[in-house]
Amino acid sequence: MEHILITGASRGIGRATAILCGAKGWSVAINYLKDDAAAESTARAVDAAGGRAVLIKGDVTREDAVIAMFDAATAALGPLSGAVINAGIVGPTLRLADMPADRLQRMFDVNVYGAFLCARECARRLPTDRGGAGGSIVVVSSAASRLGSPSEYIDYAASKSAVDTLTIGLAKELGPAGVRVNAVRPGLIETDIHASGGQPDRARRLGAMTPLGRAGRAEEVGEAIVWLLSDRASYTTGAILDVSGGR
Ligand code: NAP
Repeated sequence: MEHILITGASRGIGRATAILCGAKGWSVAINYLKDDAAAESTARAVDAAGGRAVLIKGDVTREDAVIAMFDAATAALGPLSGAVINAGIVGPTLRLADMPADRLQRMFDVNVYGAFLCARECARRLPTDRGGAGGSIVVVSSAASRLGSPSEYIDYAASKSAVDTLTIGLAKELGPAGVRVNAVRPGLIETDIHASGGQPDRARRLGAMTPLGRAGRAEEVGEAIVWLLSDRASYTTGAILDVSGGR
Protein backbone atom coordinates (compact mmCIF):
# COMPACT_ATOMS: atom_id res chain seq x y z
CA MET A 1 0.00 0.00 0.00
CA GLU A 2 1.24 3.48 -0.86
CA HIS A 3 1.01 6.42 1.52
CA ILE A 4 0.49 9.65 -0.40
CA LEU A 5 0.18 13.27 0.71
CA ILE A 6 -1.75 15.55 -1.66
CA THR A 7 -1.80 19.30 -1.15
CA GLY A 8 -4.97 21.15 -2.13
CA ALA A 9 -6.97 17.92 -2.16
CA SER A 10 -10.32 19.18 -0.90
CA ARG A 11 -11.50 20.15 -4.38
CA GLY A 12 -10.74 19.86 -8.09
CA ILE A 13 -7.71 17.96 -9.39
CA GLY A 14 -6.42 17.16 -5.89
CA ARG A 15 -9.76 15.68 -4.85
CA ALA A 16 -10.04 13.56 -8.01
CA THR A 17 -6.48 12.31 -7.53
CA ALA A 18 -7.16 11.43 -3.89
CA ILE A 19 -10.20 9.36 -4.84
CA LEU A 20 -8.26 7.52 -7.56
CA CYS A 21 -5.52 6.77 -5.01
CA GLY A 22 -8.22 5.47 -2.65
CA ALA A 23 -9.54 3.18 -5.39
CA LYS A 24 -6.07 1.59 -5.56
CA GLY A 25 -6.29 0.88 -1.82
CA TRP A 26 -3.75 3.56 -0.99
CA SER A 27 -3.88 5.80 2.06
CA VAL A 28 -4.06 9.53 1.45
CA ALA A 29 -3.31 12.62 3.53
CA ILE A 30 -5.64 15.31 2.26
CA ASN A 31 -4.29 18.81 2.75
CA TYR A 32 -6.45 21.88 2.22
CA LEU A 33 -6.62 25.53 3.25
CA LYS A 34 -10.10 26.37 4.55
CA ASP A 35 -13.02 24.45 3.01
CA ASP A 36 -13.72 21.92 5.78
CA ALA A 37 -16.92 20.60 4.20
CA ALA A 38 -15.23 19.92 0.85
CA ALA A 39 -12.28 18.22 2.55
CA GLU A 40 -14.58 16.02 4.63
CA SER A 41 -16.49 15.08 1.49
CA THR A 42 -13.22 14.10 -0.25
CA ALA A 43 -12.17 12.02 2.76
CA ARG A 44 -15.48 10.15 2.70
CA ALA A 45 -15.09 9.53 -1.03
CA VAL A 46 -11.53 8.19 -0.56
CA ASP A 47 -12.72 5.82 2.16
CA ALA A 48 -15.71 4.72 0.06
CA ALA A 49 -13.40 4.01 -2.88
CA GLY A 50 -11.40 1.58 -0.74
CA GLY A 51 -8.61 3.77 0.59
CA ARG A 52 -7.91 5.44 3.89
CA ALA A 53 -8.02 9.22 4.30
CA VAL A 54 -6.72 11.62 6.89
CA LEU A 55 -7.40 15.36 6.78
CA ILE A 56 -4.64 17.88 7.36
CA LYS A 57 -5.66 21.51 7.22
CA GLY A 58 -2.79 23.93 6.64
CA ASP A 59 -1.47 26.74 4.49
CA VAL A 60 1.36 25.61 2.20
CA THR A 61 2.87 29.11 2.33
CA ARG A 62 3.73 28.70 6.04
CA GLU A 63 6.90 26.76 6.76
CA ASP A 64 5.72 25.63 10.20
CA ALA A 65 2.42 24.42 8.75
CA VAL A 66 4.16 22.48 5.96
CA ILE A 67 6.53 20.74 8.38
CA ALA A 68 3.61 19.97 10.72
CA MET A 69 1.62 18.63 7.77
CA PHE A 70 4.34 16.16 6.78
CA ASP A 71 4.81 15.15 10.42
CA ALA A 72 1.06 14.60 10.87
CA ALA A 73 0.76 12.62 7.63
CA THR A 74 3.68 10.38 8.63
CA ALA A 75 2.29 9.87 12.13
CA ALA A 76 -1.14 8.94 10.80
CA LEU A 77 -0.18 6.83 7.77
CA GLY A 78 3.42 5.77 8.23
CA PRO A 79 6.40 6.93 6.13
CA LEU A 80 5.21 8.60 2.94
CA SER A 81 5.91 6.93 -0.39
CA GLY A 82 4.76 9.85 -2.47
CA ALA A 83 3.40 13.36 -2.62
CA VAL A 84 1.39 15.43 -5.05
CA ILE A 85 2.32 19.09 -4.90
CA ASN A 86 -0.96 20.41 -6.24
CA ALA A 87 -2.26 23.37 -4.19
CA GLY A 88 -2.39 26.42 -6.42
CA ILE A 89 -4.28 29.60 -7.16
CA VAL A 90 -5.02 31.95 -10.04
CA GLY A 91 -6.03 35.59 -9.77
CA PRO A 92 -8.55 37.76 -11.59
CA THR A 93 -7.79 38.28 -15.27
CA LEU A 94 -5.52 41.32 -15.59
CA ARG A 95 -2.75 42.64 -17.79
CA LEU A 96 0.59 42.80 -15.97
CA ALA A 97 0.52 46.61 -15.91
CA ASP A 98 -2.61 46.49 -13.75
CA MET A 99 -1.62 43.78 -11.26
CA PRO A 100 -1.41 44.95 -7.65
CA ALA A 101 1.80 43.96 -5.84
CA ASP A 102 -0.07 42.01 -3.16
CA ARG A 103 -1.63 39.81 -5.84
CA LEU A 104 1.82 39.09 -7.34
CA GLN A 105 3.13 38.29 -3.87
CA ARG A 106 0.33 35.84 -3.09
CA MET A 107 0.62 34.14 -6.49
CA PHE A 108 4.30 33.40 -6.00
CA ASP A 109 3.82 32.60 -2.30
CA VAL A 110 1.30 29.83 -2.97
CA ASN A 111 2.38 28.49 -6.36
CA VAL A 112 6.17 28.74 -6.00
CA TYR A 113 7.20 29.19 -2.36
CA GLY A 114 4.51 26.77 -1.14
CA ALA A 115 5.50 24.20 -3.76
CA PHE A 116 9.18 24.55 -2.83
CA LEU A 117 8.46 24.16 0.89
CA CYS A 118 6.52 20.96 0.19
CA ALA A 119 9.18 19.68 -2.23
CA ARG A 120 11.86 20.39 0.36
CA GLU A 121 10.04 18.31 2.98
CA CYS A 122 9.81 15.46 0.47
CA ALA A 123 13.53 15.84 -0.26
CA ARG A 124 14.27 15.56 3.45
CA ARG A 125 12.14 12.49 4.05
CA LEU A 126 11.87 10.24 0.99
CA PRO A 127 15.45 9.73 -0.28
CA THR A 128 17.21 6.52 0.65
CA ASP A 129 20.31 8.50 1.67
CA ARG A 130 18.19 10.29 4.28
CA GLY A 131 16.59 7.24 5.83
CA GLY A 132 13.61 7.04 3.50
CA ALA A 133 12.54 4.24 1.19
CA GLY A 134 12.50 6.33 -1.99
CA GLY A 135 9.26 7.30 -3.67
CA SER A 136 7.56 9.50 -6.21
CA ILE A 137 6.75 13.20 -6.26
CA VAL A 138 4.31 14.71 -8.75
CA VAL A 139 4.19 18.47 -9.20
CA VAL A 140 1.06 20.01 -10.71
CA SER A 141 2.16 22.66 -13.15
CA SER A 142 0.04 24.11 -15.98
CA ALA A 143 0.03 24.42 -19.75
CA ALA A 144 0.19 28.13 -18.92
CA SER A 145 3.93 27.71 -18.27
CA ARG A 146 4.51 27.32 -22.01
CA LEU A 147 1.65 29.57 -23.21
CA GLY A 148 2.43 32.59 -21.02
CA SER A 149 -1.23 33.50 -20.38
CA PRO A 150 -1.05 37.01 -21.87
CA SER A 151 -3.81 39.39 -20.77
CA GLU A 152 -5.04 36.78 -18.28
CA TYR A 153 -2.38 36.00 -15.71
CA ILE A 154 1.25 36.10 -16.73
CA ASP A 155 2.17 35.82 -13.04
CA TYR A 156 0.39 32.47 -12.79
CA ALA A 157 2.07 31.22 -15.97
CA ALA A 158 5.48 32.24 -14.68
CA SER A 159 4.84 30.61 -11.31
CA LYS A 160 4.17 27.33 -13.12
CA SER A 161 7.32 27.67 -15.18
CA ALA A 162 9.19 27.85 -11.87
CA VAL A 163 7.73 24.52 -10.77
CA ASP A 164 8.63 22.95 -14.12
CA THR A 165 12.23 23.87 -13.36
CA LEU A 166 11.86 22.58 -9.80
CA THR A 167 10.79 19.25 -11.30
CA ILE A 168 13.75 19.05 -13.70
CA GLY A 169 16.33 19.94 -11.06
CA LEU A 170 14.92 17.90 -8.20
CA ALA A 171 14.58 14.82 -10.40
CA LYS A 172 18.34 15.02 -10.98
CA GLU A 173 19.11 15.61 -7.30
CA LEU A 174 16.96 12.79 -5.98
CA GLY A 175 17.16 10.15 -8.71
CA PRO A 176 20.25 8.48 -7.22
CA ALA A 177 18.42 8.20 -3.89
CA GLY A 178 15.39 6.40 -5.29
CA VAL A 179 12.98 9.30 -5.67
CA ARG A 180 11.32 10.07 -8.99
CA VAL A 181 10.07 13.61 -9.61
CA ASN A 182 7.68 14.44 -12.44
CA ALA A 183 5.14 17.11 -13.33
CA VAL A 184 1.82 17.19 -15.09
CA ARG A 185 0.72 20.24 -17.05
CA PRO A 186 -3.08 20.31 -17.12
CA GLY A 187 -4.82 22.40 -19.75
CA LEU A 188 -8.38 23.65 -19.37
CA ILE A 189 -9.91 21.49 -16.65
CA GLU A 190 -13.42 21.92 -15.21
CA THR A 191 -12.80 22.92 -11.58
CA ASP A 192 -13.62 25.81 -9.25
CA ILE A 193 -10.30 27.52 -10.01
CA HIS A 194 -11.74 29.37 -13.00
CA ALA A 195 -14.54 30.91 -10.91
CA SER A 196 -11.93 32.01 -8.39
CA GLY A 197 -10.29 33.91 -11.28
CA GLY A 198 -13.64 35.50 -12.18
CA GLN A 199 -14.32 33.31 -15.25
CA PRO A 200 -16.51 30.35 -14.21
CA ASP A 201 -17.15 29.36 -17.85
CA ARG A 202 -13.48 29.63 -18.94
CA ALA A 203 -12.68 25.90 -19.23
CA ARG A 204 -15.85 25.13 -21.20
CA ARG A 205 -15.54 28.18 -23.46
CA LEU A 206 -11.85 27.81 -24.33
CA GLY A 207 -11.88 24.01 -24.11
CA ALA A 208 -14.09 23.92 -27.20
CA MET A 209 -11.19 25.39 -29.17
CA THR A 210 -8.64 22.73 -28.22
CA PRO A 211 -7.77 19.86 -30.58
CA LEU A 212 -9.93 17.49 -28.53
CA GLY A 213 -12.77 20.02 -28.64
CA ARG A 214 -13.65 20.12 -24.96
CA ALA A 215 -12.46 20.92 -21.47
CA GLY A 216 -10.85 18.15 -19.45
CA ARG A 217 -12.15 16.53 -16.28
CA ALA A 218 -10.21 16.51 -13.02
CA GLU A 219 -10.20 12.69 -13.13
CA GLU A 220 -8.38 12.76 -16.47
CA VAL A 221 -5.54 14.67 -14.82
CA GLY A 222 -5.73 12.45 -11.75
CA GLU A 223 -5.17 9.33 -13.88
CA ALA A 224 -1.89 10.75 -15.16
CA ILE A 225 -0.81 11.74 -11.65
CA VAL A 226 -1.61 8.30 -10.23
CA TRP A 227 0.36 6.65 -13.03
CA LEU A 228 3.38 8.84 -12.25
CA LEU A 229 3.04 8.04 -8.54
CA SER A 230 2.87 4.32 -9.20
CA ASP A 231 5.61 1.77 -9.88
CA ARG A 232 4.23 1.49 -13.42
CA ALA A 233 6.16 4.72 -14.10
CA SER A 234 9.32 3.23 -12.59
CA TYR A 235 11.65 4.55 -15.33
CA THR A 236 10.02 7.97 -15.67
CA THR A 237 11.61 10.90 -13.89
CA GLY A 238 12.16 14.55 -14.77
CA ALA A 239 9.23 14.33 -17.19
CA ILE A 240 6.66 17.05 -17.70
CA LEU A 241 3.49 15.47 -19.03
CA ASP A 242 0.94 17.64 -20.83
CA VAL A 243 -2.64 16.66 -20.01
CA SER A 244 -4.20 19.41 -22.03
CA GLY A 245 -6.27 17.98 -24.86
CA GLY A 246 -3.56 18.96 -27.32
CA ARG A 247 -3.63 22.64 -26.37
P1 NAP B 1 -9.27 24.35 -7.17
O1 NAP B 1 -10.42 23.51 -7.62
O2 NAP B 1 -9.43 25.82 -7.05
O3 NAP B 1 -8.74 23.75 -5.78
C1 NAP B 1 -7.64 24.35 -5.17
C2 NAP B 1 -7.23 23.53 -3.98
O4 NAP B 1 -6.03 24.12 -3.42
C3 NAP B 1 -8.25 23.50 -2.87
O5 NAP B 1 -8.19 22.23 -2.27
C4 NAP B 1 -7.75 24.58 -1.91
O6 NAP B 1 -8.18 24.37 -0.56
C5 NAP B 1 -6.26 24.37 -2.03
N1 NAP B 1 -5.43 25.52 -1.64
C6 NAP B 1 -5.43 26.78 -2.15
N2 NAP B 1 -4.53 27.55 -1.53
C7 NAP B 1 -3.94 26.76 -0.60
C8 NAP B 1 -2.93 26.97 0.38
N3 NAP B 1 -2.34 28.17 0.53
N4 NAP B 1 -2.58 25.93 1.19
C9 NAP B 1 -3.17 24.71 1.05
N5 NAP B 1 -4.13 24.46 0.14
C10 NAP B 1 -4.50 25.47 -0.67
O7 NAP B 1 -8.01 24.13 -8.14
P2 NAP B 1 -7.70 23.04 -9.28
O8 NAP B 1 -8.25 23.55 -10.56
O9 NAP B 1 -8.03 21.68 -8.81
O10 NAP B 1 -6.12 23.23 -9.38
C11 NAP B 1 -5.21 22.34 -8.76
C12 NAP B 1 -3.85 22.60 -9.37
O11 NAP B 1 -3.94 22.38 -10.78
C13 NAP B 1 -3.33 24.01 -9.19
O12 NAP B 1 -1.95 23.99 -8.94
C14 NAP B 1 -3.61 24.67 -10.53
O13 NAP B 1 -2.74 25.72 -10.81
C15 NAP B 1 -3.39 23.49 -11.46
N6 NAP B 1 -4.04 23.63 -12.77
C16 NAP B 1 -5.40 23.69 -12.88
C17 NAP B 1 -5.97 23.83 -14.14
C18 NAP B 1 -7.45 23.91 -14.36
O14 NAP B 1 -7.89 24.21 -15.49
N7 NAP B 1 -8.28 23.63 -13.36
C19 NAP B 1 -5.15 23.94 -15.26
C20 NAP B 1 -3.78 23.88 -15.11
C21 NAP B 1 -3.23 23.72 -13.85
P3 NAP B 1 -9.64 24.93 -0.02
O15 NAP B 1 -10.68 24.02 -0.66
O16 NAP B 1 -9.57 24.76 1.44
O17 NAP B 1 -9.76 26.35 -0.50
